[in-house]
Amino acid sequence: MATFAFAAGGQAAAVERPPIAWNAIPYPAKRKRQMASYAQRHYGFHRYGLRNPKVIVQHLTESSTYRPIWKMFANNVADNELGELPGVCSHFVIDQNGKIHQLVPISLMCRHTVGLNWTAIGIEHVGFNPSDVLGRAKVRTASLRLTNWLRCREGIAIKNVIGHNESVQSWYHHERVARLRGQTHDDFPTSAMRKYRAALRKLTC
Ligand SMILES: [Zn+2]
Repeated sequence: MATFAFAAGGQAAAVERPPIAWNAIPYPAKRKRQMASYAQRHYGFHRYGLRNPKVIVQHLTESSTYRPIWKMFANNVADNELGELPGVCSHFVIDQNGKIHQLVPISLMCRHTVGLNWTAIGIEHVGFNPSDVLGRAKVRTASLRLTNWLRCREGIAIKNVIGHNESVQSWYHHERVARLRGQTHDDFPTSAMRKYRAALRKLTC
């Protein structure tokens, strides 16, 4: 649950940051150059920084452990699906025990959602189905706390907290490469995200 406290003077204090383990993947100059080139190809501007994010995208790793995901994101090799560089990554990964790992600062872009990487923070959850998040108290609590903290901090509207499967419908979706305009994945469909957003609405900033 979000911690909501009143500071002296009656001002609402900021939402408490959940515990986050800093497990950075390498993001050296080479990866920054690759990210900026990717942004140029797909979004039309040459930049690797994530400025003023407007969307948070929820994902599922489709795996049962955290470590291989960290390695895959750290490796920075072209992905099997689209064959592009930099390699894919996500800012956060939440493990099945509810532990939140941060891999990349939110001031940098990550490749996690075609059409939205220019403006979206990515949160991966270790697991296969939305029930691996919504049905496990520790993971659900960690995910909602992290998302609420981020969206309050960055001023992101709850309607822009979306599942990967909802990416194409996002108002912020932008993709210059025509063949990729309809590309999405099936993790976190609307049926699950309706429940997720309803839970999020009960938390305050
Ligand atoms: Zn995904």
